[in-house]
Amino acid sequence: MNIHEYQAKELMAKFGVAVPRGGVAYTADEAEAVARELGGSVWVVKSQIHAGGRGKGTFQGAAADAGGGVRVVRSVEAVRDNAAQMIGATLVTHQTGPAGKEVKRVYVEEGCDIARELYLSMLVDRANSCVTLMGSTEGGMDIEEVAATTPEKIIRVAVDPATGIQAYHARKMAFGLGLEGKQVGAAVKFMMGMYRAFTSLDASLIEINPLVITGEGGVLALDAKMNFDDNGLFRHKDVEELRDTDEEDPTELEAAKFSLNYITLDGNIGCMVNGAGLAMATMDIIKANGGEPANFLDVGGGATKERVTAAFKIILSDAKVEGILVNIFGGIMRCDVIAEGVVAAAREVGLNVPLVVRLEGTNVETGKEILAGSGLPIISADDLGDAAQKIVQAVKEAA
Ligand code: ADP
Ligand code: MG
Repeated sequence: MNIHEYQAKELMAKFGVAVPRGGVAYTADEAEAVARELGGSVWVVKSQIHAGGRGKGTFQGAAADAGGGVRVVRSVEAVRDNAAQMIGATLVTHQTGPAGKEVKRVYVEEGCDIARELYLSMLVDRANSCVTLMGSTEGGMDIEEVAATTPEKIIRVAVDPATGIQAYHARKMAFGLGLEGKQVGAAVKFMMGMYRAFTSLDASLIEINPLVITGEGGVLALDAKMNFDDNGLFRHKDVEELRDTDEEDPTELEAAKFSLNYITLDGNIGCMVNGAGLAMATMDIIKANGGEPANFLDVGGGATKERVTAAFKIILSDAKVEGILVNIFGGIMRCDVIAEGVVAAAREVGLNVPLVVRLEGTNVETGKEILAGSGLPIISADDLGDAAQKIVQAVKEAA
């Protein structure tokens, strides 16, 4: 799960991570009130969407020329005007895709005197079973680009979760980033707090880009991104409450209601499979036959007819889907249950794309009878390879 920048800053501040002062606003009036409350002479109005690259982003339509999604302004009136332009407008950044995202809230923050912009992140590193700190002097840049063009500029420090972060880990990063004098102590405190936030809240990623050194030598998180491990959310009701469903894929949300493991992809062949491993193999074999999967879907081991129906409806509701491949190995899952779900869903919403079904395992004969007796135009397949070939072929012919 992702959260907004201002929420990540609020969470981390509780763990002693230094962030600028600011407040969230849902209207231009609220934005002005926050600016007055903050005082000072420079403010930053920041669009809150779950995507990076806001500063360099552009708004669609009339607001296109007014500036990006992050604007530095010098009066409370300007805070108000810019908030009014952003709220309700659609911001396009390199991370939103061409459709962009509608801004529904802005964060008004005190302007910061930036001496240096750095990059700092923490993530679960599966390669070494550690929490890895990544830093770079190239703050404000996309780290993927830094990694691709100048990999030597990325500093990595691995922290064994058994010992947790020690001051020397943080000092190693601080020196790597070229910090000096009292900046080092401030950075160490920053990283120790960040690590505590990371582990206490079951985060999977915290990215601070940029981390800034201020004119007075302070260390501040100017931007903040936090991702959480969904499997740990039950332990953090307060974090779960930060979920903003407006920012999430509606199909994935619908799937989550039925405890389906569903991820939207770019292709045109919808897949309904049981078991994550078989789902991956199915995607691979579709690709091997020249097709592209429209989704990853694992209906799970003990799926009921209702869950299967919901899953099939979700696939059918995706406008990209030009064909469906059902690939089930009935172990715990029974083939007749799958067949009933498919038939019920197809009857309810209508099946207007080719459907290939490959069933094997428990109650396979009953399953096949249900499908054959349904009157639906189902193409049956004998094995995985046959199924993939048939669906790719059927989609081509239908196009
Ligand atoms: P994004 O990464 O989505 O573009 P950031 O929060 O990183 O958004 O902001 C983009 C840039 O705007 C930063 O690199 C920084 O230069 C500037 N900026 C952001 N917040 C502030 C602030 N509080 N004071 C001064 N400049 C800021
Ligand atoms: Mg940023």
